[in-house]
Amino acid sequence: MRLITNIGQAREELARYVRQADRVSFFTGAGISTECGIPDFRSPGSPWMDNKPVDFRDFVASRDMRAEAWRRKFAMDDIYQGSPPGRGHRAIASQIASGKAEYVITQNIDGLHQAAGVPQERVIELHGNGTYARCIHCGLRYELHAVRARVAAGDPAPDCDACGAPIKSATISFGQAMPQEEMERAQSAAIDCDIFLSIGSSLVVFPAASIPLIAQDAGAMLIILNREPTGLDEHADLVIRCDIGDVLSALDTQDSVTSSPETQNIG
Ligand code: NAD
Repeated sequence: MRLITNIGQAREELARYVRQADRVSFFTGAGISTECGIPDFRSPGSPWMDNKPVDFRDFVASRDMRAEAWRRKFAMDDIYQGSPPGRGHRAIASQIASGKAEYVITQNIDGLHQAAGVPQERVIELHGNGTYARCIHCGLRYELHAVRARVAAGDPAPDCDACGAPIKSATISFGQAMPQEEMERAQSAAIDCDIFLSIGSSLVVFPAASIPLIAQDAGAMLIILNREPTGLDEHADLVIRCDIGDVLSALDTQDSVTSSPETQNIG
């Protein structure tokens, strides 16, 4: 493992590696969105700790817990709704637009890759998306403003109009099965690249954190960009311990990328 802590060196080397590569795969965690005003999960003082996502088994078992889950969800939305994409999101969007990268694999649920202009089909969301809701049984989609209106009208845990099962934020909660199709797509993107760049993840949440190792086993150079040590640093070929926006802006090949404002509620 080689370590870079100097910002100038990090920008220069990363830009060179990416330029020389045929195909880059990006893998992002909560750290890419902190400069947008959305705190990560594990840094000290995180408001996620006061509004912890409810375990899926508790959500299914108890109407009271479903009501509590919606209370926490809307509390987080009230704080972070409307956060714009950051420099890292824009840089990744430009690399995908240029064809250097095909996919961004993300653990994030904030929709900011799409808001930065990455087409939905190029974003592989391992933990779902907190900008809308779905019925947990039939999968019917609900917009958050409609769910919120039902909660405000006195139904604290709304059920699906079509099948009667609970409606839930479209995220993958603790205790919930990983989405099989997304995991398979992520593994393919990991195998099909010569640089795999992990950005802003503590790399301790499995099975998502196994994806960088799949890339490396398949022959990719594994680069980890994070301001603190991660669970996989010892496996990485290169660790860049710097601020994400400061480094990734070196990869931004476009001045402006279209932003779509509807994808900006989270949690
Ligand atoms: P994490 O909180 O465990 O780790 C984030 C890492 O990013 C930390 O190690 C932190 O030091 C680093 N970091 C933060 N800001 C940085 C910056 N500006 N520059 C460099 N490094 C920075 O996040 P995770 O590994 O993604 O796991 C958290 C889980 O919680 C994920 O599954 C995710 O779904 C969820 N979550 C999502 C969001 C979001 O969508 N924005 C926010 C919080 C939590």
